Amino acid sequence: MNDMQSLYRIAVLAGDGIGPEVTAEAVKVLKAIEEINGPTFRFQSGLIGGCALDQTASPLPAETISICNNSNAVLLGAVGGPQWDSKRPELRPEQGLLQIRQRLGLYCNLRPAKVLDALVNMSALKPPRVKGTDLVIVRELMGGIYFGNPRGIFTKNGERYGVNTEIYREHEVERVAHRAFQLARLRRHKVTSVDKANVLESSRLWREVVTRIGQSYTDVELNHLYVDSCAMQLIDRPTSFDVILTNNMFGDILSDEAAMLTGSIGLLPSASLGEHSALYEPVHGSAPDIAGRNKANPLAAIASAALMLRYTLRMESAALAIEEAIERILKRGVRTADLPGKARPTSTTKMGDLIAETTQKILKSANSKKKR
Ligand code: NAD
Repeated sequence: MNDMQSLYRIAVLAGDGIGPEVTAEAVKVLKAIEEINGPTFRFQSGLIGGCALDQTASPLPAETISICNNSNAVLLGAVGGPQWDSKRPELRPEQGLLQIRQRLGLYCNLRPAKVLDALVNMSALKPPRVKGTDLVIVRELMGGIYFGNPRGIFTKNGERYGVNTEIYREHEVERVAHRAFQLARLRRHKVTSVDKANVLESSRLWREVVTRIGQSYTDVELNHLYVDSCAMQLIDRPTSFDVILTNNMFGDILSDEAAMLTGSIGLLPSASLGEHSALYEPVHGSAPDIAGRNKANPLAAIASAALMLRYTLRMESAALAIEEAIERILKRGVRTADLPGKARPTSTTKMGDLIAETTQKILKSANSKKKR
């Protein structure tokens, strides 16, 4: 497709706390790309989380769902804050997030964990062990123990039982497995499927289905690990992983472990994909402790916009330009307050300006090379 003629609708759900600050920087970078490479981005804002509760009494108003359904992709900031913590569970900002995943059918969550050379000292591990780590966790997001029935706390024979049920249907495993293999084809052609097939029937089905799907991707190497072994190997030899495919609960835990390999929550982007929708958001929360002070690190939100360009809008060169800009700026020693460094910390808006300018420079230079 010729970018000059493309129009992309992006729903912007900035949310609470630092959400609006970091999302504004991601939009700034997308507008900078628009100036150079010509696709038109049409941004439309919607409410989600605490700000939506305050204005509409719902954490996910119908209007927001409609905006998302009419968009090519959704860019989300973060939700939540102490002012809503005492509300009933169904009236908490986080409900907005859970509901939007269900409403948009986002069954596949991608969490990249890449250790940047400029920040290798921030890792929880020693640099020689972690240098070069570049992996993605593909987590099934709509099934498994978080949603299975029966669930609840019941009393039987005078004793209370807490019950949750892990259920996976074959098609739920198939669709997320296809995503993982397709992703591996864009990377280093390796999928590690993680389960607990030595104990759980749901995992035995998982392994059987992933193995079958893998037979149609003969160019991708597939191996299987039990989740306990994977947790160890992530620490022992993190550079050996490419794509890790796993269920909802194991993915929840392993993706936080992988985050510690990179050392900073302010840098980690994520994508949640469905058949017809996709939502991109930083991994971090609304950071109420620093909200409104122009101190937040916008790089995770900006890197989430890069994932949007790559996976939904198929603008790989623009995605790479943003990622390259982030690396260059960090290599130069520029740091927001959450990152250790010698120079005076830079503000959220200044960091956004630098990434936008550098992304433009990278794209201009690539365009002039193409013309030559
Ligand atoms: P958090 O991620 O908001 O903050 C944890 C710590 O990291 C804080 O010290 C914060 O200042 C810092 N931090 C986070 N993002 C940063 C950034 N971009 N730049 C600089 N520093 C950053 O997690 P929390 O404190 O556990 O939760 C705060 C609120 O966010 C809660 O209401 C929680 O429910 C919500 N939350 C939302 C999401 C989401 O929207 N996806 C995710 C996690 C937590």
